[in-house]
Formats: sequence, structure tokens, C-alpha cells
Amino acid sequence: KDARLTLAGNAGPVEVLRGITLGIARGESVGLIGPSGSGKSSLLMLMGGLERATSGSVTALGQDMSAMDEDALARFRRGNMGIVFQSFHLIPTMTALENVALPLELAGMDDAFGRAAEELAAVGLGARMHHYPAEMSGGEQQRVALARAAAPRPALFLADEPTGNLDAANGAAIMDLLFSLRDRHGATLILVTHAPELAARCDRVIRLADGQVVAGQVAA
Ligand code: ATP
Ligand code: MG
Repeated sequence: KDARLTLAGNAGPVEVLRGITLGIARGESVGLIGPSGSGKSSLLMLMGGLERATSGSVTALGQDMSAMDEDALARFRRGNMGIVFQSFHLIPTMTALENVALPLELAGMDDAFGRAAEELAAVGLGARMHHYPAEMSGGEQQRVALARAAAPRPALFLADEPTGNLDAANGAAIMDLLFSLRDRHGATLILVTHAPELAARCDRVIRLADGQVVAGQVAA
């Protein structure tokens, strides 16, 4: 609500987002579009609690993230959010299985490796569990990243151009997986994309320009 984000750039502060007032319903899927530099990634980071609003508030699942201390925010993120990026952000020294199990172990789950194996099977990588990221294609690495994001069964999926580094066929497969993982538990999905046809798969499209929401503010 009325969120602003100012980042300390080298050449002075940059007002990246201003006057963002936005409501997203539980279970809704939203495509976030807008020109390069319009603030899409910044807004996603704000919604994911990876960046804090300079002013205003950001509430997720009824909880005010702007009021949480760092530990509480990290715990909240781990329990409720699944985030995927354009680059896959896997830990290179860990196998696919270890990558997916890590957040589950951090969350104190008893059978983290069992659940991780199930999630990898669900993205079609049951046979590749013990491979390292460097031994996998980009599409496969993004599947691992999706499995890792989905494993804690998050209420909120945030994706920042998840197909940006993939060719058309792999990108389409990743998109299908993302939507099917989200449908599994009716999670909310916020998808940043440059592709209008991908955004159109969502319930609503929000357009940003110059750090402000210029279309799609109000739920249809
Ligand atoms: P793209 O489509 O290219 O990914 P975007 O819509 O995701 O663009 P953001 O990455 O959110 O855009 O950036 C929005 C604005 O904030 C840009 O003007 C960018 O230069 C600026 N910006 C981003 N990160 C920082 C930072 N750490 N410090 C200062 N300015 C930043
Ligand atoms: Mg971006």
C-alpha cells in the first residue's frame, strides 16, 4: 500500500518504485509487464520480502512484512514463498536433490530428502537427482529451481522472467510446469515477463511504467 522504493545508486538515490498501491487476491495469477527498467523486478523483490519498502507497507497473507525483523522475514519467506529467477541460482556444489532438499531441511522437515525426490520426479527429473547443476542443461536446471521453489508448498509463487534464458521449446515446458505446480495447491502466482502471450495466461495483467502501475491495478 502506497509503497515506495528508493535504492542507493552510485550516482545518488534512485526512486525505483513510487506510489504503488496494489491488491492481489489469494489464488490469483498476475502477469507483470512493462518496459526494461520500469521496476518489474524491484516490485517482485518487494512482494517477495527480498527488498524493503522505503515507505508504505507490504502485506502478504495478512501479515505486514514491512514490520518484521530480518529473522522473522526470512522465516516468513521460507515458509510461504517460492521464488524463481531468470538465472537458475542453484548451488553448484550440491546435487539436484541436495539443492531441492536444502530449504526443506532449513524449515526442519523430517523427510526433506524424500520430499525433494518426489518434487524432482514431479518435474520429470527423477532420473537426474544425483547430478550437479553443471551436468544439466539450462531447461533442466530451471526445472530443479522450480522443484526447489515448489517443495515447501508455498502459498505464493514469484517468478522473474523464468524462461528468459531458455529457447522457445524449453521455455514453454517450464511455463507449463510453473502453472501446473501453482494449480496443485491453488497458490498465488506473480509472473514477470516480457512476453505478452505468457502474461495473457494469467488471470490479470499489471503494467508498470517508470516505477508506477499504469494498468491492471484493480482486480477484474
Ligand atoms: P528489466 O525488464 O530490464 O529486467 P525491470 O522492469 O525488472 O527491468 P528493475 O530491475 O526493477 O527493472 O529496475 C528498475 C529501475 O531501478 C531501473 O531504473 C534500474 O536502473 C534501477 N535499479 C535497479 N536496481 C538498482 C540498485 N541496486 N541501485 C540503484 N538503482 C537500481
Ligand atoms: Mg527485471
